[in-house]
Amino acid sequence: MEDDHITTIGTCFACKRTFPYTAANVTMITIDPETGLPPDRSVLGTQREPTPEALARAVPEPVCPDCLTRARQFRDRMNSPALRLEPWHRPGPG
Ligand SMILES: [Zn+2]
Repeated sequence: MEDDHITTIGTCFACKRTFPYTAANVTMITIDPETGLPPDRSVLGTQREPTPEALARAVPEPVCPDCLTRARQFRDRMNSPALRLEPWHRPGPG
């Protein structure tokens, strides 16, 4: 399909910058416009079974290469064995 190589200007879903992309090489994420999240993500960022309604209204949104790189670095850090997860504690009232 020749259409895959036509450059489109889109807005990155993550950082809201406009960037040129072609359908052949862009990464799209599917977003439920009602929640602003992928249909298989809860508002807490946890995985969940997407509802048919969420899947039906979800639309693909482009993500720019910079954000993909950042996401990859973030994931690499999360997977790093050097990372120590400290227990998160809430400061007391007052
Ligand atoms: Zn971006």
